[in-house]
Amino acid sequence: MAMKYVQTTCPYCGTGCSMNLVVSDDKVVGVAPYHRSPVNEGKLCPKGVYAHEFINSEDRLTTPLIKKDGKFVEASWDEAYEVIASKLKSYKPDELSVLASARVSNEDNYAIMKFARGVLKTKHLDHCARLCHSSSVAGLATTFGSGAMTNSIADIAESKCVFIIGSNTYEQHPLIGRSVARARKNGAKVIYADPRLTPTGKQADLYMAFRSGSDVAIFNGMMQEIIKNGWEDKDF
Ligand code: SF4
Repeated sequence: MAMKYVQTTCPYCGTGCSMNLVVSDDKVVGVAPYHRSPVNEGKLCPKGVYAHEFINSEDRLTTPLIKKDGKFVEASWDEAYEVIASKLKSYKPDELSVLASARVSNEDNYAIMKFARGVLKTKHLDHCARLCHSSSVAGLATTFGSGAMTNSIADIAESKCVFIIGSNTYEQHPLIGRSVARARKNGAKVIYADPRLTPTGKQADLYMAFRSGSDVAIFNGMMQEIIKNGWEDKDF
């Protein structure tokens, strides 16, 4: 039996925990900790621990299915491509739009872009990250000079106060939640603002419920209080 460990990244959330896939005779059979990543230090949440299961799951689709007489039936890839091509050809370029995914690699997204622009010749091309991320990129770049996270995950555990808004961190990004929990154990105050009292909110020191969509008003109110009381970092 040939067994090896292949280092990779957990596919489930944006925390990006490192892990080893345990490969036995060319079959992925498990996940083992990868200790050298500063992001997760060898730990994984339950999603990561079982991240290999879908690879060999019996529920996984391994052949294309084409609907015939109202029922999906197995088909060859050639048949599937014929159907896809004939359907796509029945539309004019402007009638087609393509939505790319953050769940595939940069290389796949590049190929999707080439396919949309070069083959389908449509200008209607978008990516799901534009919905959730483009506004944060613009805001962060304007405010801090970079459209990405400006601190390391390790810094969170060193914080004296953690303010969370728009995130159910403990469930959505559990290993970042672990850093928040460590900060709290070290005496940090955790303030949580969200329309829902999530598990993250239940473990916070202060929970602020607000009406969905009024985030900007909350920030404006906080800034007004800070400036009114002269609490801002004037040197910054
Ligand atoms: S926090 Fe959990 S789901 Fe997210 S990357 Fe790490 S192991 Fe995967």
